[in-house]
Amino acid sequence: MNRDIHDESQRAPARARRIIRQRLESLQRAGVEQLGRVPNADLVSPPMEPPAPNQSTPNQSTPNQSTPEKTGPRQPTLEQPTDRTADMLADSTTDLPVLTLPQRQSQLSKLCEQVSVCESCPELVQNRTQTVFGVGNLEARLCFLGEAPGADEDQQGEPFVGRAGQLLNKIIEACTLTRDDIYILNVLKCRPPGNRNPNPEEAQHCRPFFERQLEIIQPEFICCLGSVAATTLLETNATIGKLRGRLHSWRGARVLATYHPAYLLRNPAAKRDVWNDMQLLMREMGIKVPNAKS
Ligand code: SF4
Repeated sequence: MNRDIHDESQRAPARARRIIRQRLESLQRAGVEQLGRVPNADLVSPPMEPPAPNQSTPNQSTPNQSTPEKTGPRQPTLEQPTDRTADMLADSTTDLPVLTLPQRQSQLSKLCEQVSVCESCPELVQNRTQTVFGVGNLEARLCFLGEAPGADEDQQGEPFVGRAGQLLNKIIEACTLTRDDIYILNVLKCRPPGNRNPNPEEAQHCRPFFERQLEIIQPEFICCLGSVAATTLLETNATIGKLRGRLHSWRGARVLATYHPAYLLRNPAAKRDVWNDMQLLMREMGIKVPNAKS
């Protein structure tokens, strides 16, 4: 893959672009359709600055104390959201502090411990070998969200290691990525007996876990694999056929829904649709699509 996109020197501007895009999307959802010109560019320029090294304090939103308070009336800016906008922003991962890698490791480790002893779904608890938390790059730009562990995953404790997982690996490679570049998790952490679909109650029980995982990893992109993952994350009853082929939004992350690899094993003709979806995702991520005309 193009490893340049993981250089730290490029990661910071990319993160800044994501934060601005997320902020604008939040404002749009709050009903703000037009922004006036901002006469003083420094009202919007600070987020574009890469974070200075060794200054990752817990409260990065604290105003710069050395800047004297300006007096007189101020123009409404992105820094002064309306109450309604503030509510929207409060529901967005945009305003969560960007976590360091050790912080992510620590928080995910604690969450994994909680998951491992969870007994909210009695039928699943009775049948599971172990819980299956998630695996991959804790600073991934892209997370794949599946629905639940299967038999192989239940045995090995890792998501997407069976036949569907092997096909997912091929999809990831076709995108010029590797599993080391991405993070993989499921809606459910326990295998449903007989590989049946998770029921809505189970999905709701497990929602706090996968939401917290995503909040910690803070991906720019989430690829939902299959109907259960897509409808659960996006909280919609729309079919996967209606959801795929375009991008959605979840707490500031851009979401693509496509068919589950297990479905592709049964319906190989749908691989073309998935490849079209992945090309859309690659373009959005700024990854060169193989054999595409530039
Ligand atoms: S599926 Fe999730 S909520 Fe249900 S028992 Fe397993 S960890 Fe707990």
